Amino acid sequence: LYNMVQDLKGNIRVYCRIRPSFSSESKNVIKFIGEDGSVVILDPAKPQKDGRKDFQFNRVFGPTSSQDEVFKDTQPLIRSVMDGYNVCIFAYGQTGSGKTHTMSGPSGGSTRDMGINYLALNDLFQMSNRRKDIIHYDIHVQMVEIYNEQVRDLLAEDSSTIRSCPTDSGLSIPDATMHSVNSTTDVLNLMKFGEMNRMVSSTAINNRSSRSHSVLTIHVHGKDTSGGTLRSCLHLVDLAGSERVDKSEVTGDRLKEAQYINKSLSCLGDVITALAQKNSHIPYRNSKLTLLLQGALGGHAKTLMLAHVSPEEDSFNETISTLKFAQRVSTV
Ligand code: ADP
Ligand code: MG
Repeated sequence: LYNMVQDLKGNIRVYCRIRPSFSSESKNVIKFIGEDGSVVILDPAKPQKDGRKDFQFNRVFGPTSSQDEVFKDTQPLIRSVMDGYNVCIFAYGQTGSGKTHTMSGPSGGSTRDMGINYLALNDLFQMSNRRKDIIHYDIHVQMVEIYNEQVRDLLAEDSSTIRSCPTDSGLSIPDATMHSVNSTTDVLNLMKFGEMNRMVSSTAINNRSSRSHSVLTIHVHGKDTSGGTLRSCLHLVDLAGSERVDKSEVTGDRLKEAQYINKSLSCLGDVITALAQKNSHIPYRNSKLTLLLQGALGGHAKTLMLAHVSPEEDSFNETISTLKFAQRVSTV
C-alpha cells in the first residue's frame, strides 16, 4: 500500500523547511507560506512588488513546524523501504539553516526533538515488529563522511579514509563497517559514536562538519515465510553547507574545500534533474556522493530533497540560491 501511495506522487519530491528566526533586529524576508507548498520571498533591497519571488514545492514547513510534523510527511517514503524500495533523503541548505536539526535533532545528546534519522529507525523497528509473523527483517547501518571527495567511516574505531567503489553486490560502501541494530538504544549509541567522530575532526579543522556530507545508510533485509527475500536501503544525507564563498577572500585549503563542495552539490543537482527529465545519461560519476548513492538514485528509487532556509534578511541571497536549486530539482 505504501508503494501505491508513493507511486502516485512521483519519485522525486522537494520540501522546504524554514527555521525560526534567532534575531529580533533582522527583518524576516519570507512573507508567505502556503498550505499548497508555495513560498513568497521579498527582496529587502527592492520596493515590495518588484522584489517579490514565488516558489512552489511539494510541501513547505514554516518556522513553527515540529520535528514530528516533518517526520509524518516523510514517513510513507521511509516505510516504502520495508517493501523493497531504495530511498534517499537529502538535507540541503546554507550552514546554520537547520539541516542537522532536521536530520539528527538538537546537539547535546538529549532525546527530545529527535530528528529524522532516529525517528526513521524507530519506525522501521516498529514495522518490523508488527510484521514479524509474516516477514523477518534484519536492519544494519553504516555511517560515513565525505570530505574533499574522500570517504571516512564514522563508525569505525580509527575512522580512517576508506575505499569507495560501488560493487555488484549492491553495497555502495563495501569497506565501511556494518552494524546490526535491534533497538533504539543501539541506534542512539551508534549515532553518539558517529557524531563524536565527526566532532573530533571538526575541532581540529575549524568546523569541518559543516563542510562535509554525512551519510547514514540503513540496510533492510527481509525474508518471508515462503523463502522470498528483499533488500533495500535508506540513505539519510546531511549535506555540506551550500553557501558560496567569496573567492577573493579565501585561499588554500579553504578554497579547495569550497570548490569540492560546489562541485559535489551541483553534481547532485545535475543527477536529480537528469533523472527527473528521464535522460539516457545520468552523470553519477562526477562526484563521490552521487557515485556512492548511485544504486539508490533513479530506477524505482525515491528521492526527497529537504531544502532548508534561514528567514533573516542577511541570508536573503543564500535563501534565494537554495530555493532556486530546490526548484531546479523539483518536478512540481
Ligand atoms: P546546519 O546543520 O544547517 O548548519 P543546524 O541544524 O546546526 O544548521 O542549525 C543551526 C542552529 O539553529 C542550531 O542551534 C539549531 O539547533 C537551530 N535550529 C535549526 N532549525 C531549528 C528549528 N526548526 N527549530 C529550532 N531550532 C532550530
Ligand atoms: Mg549541520
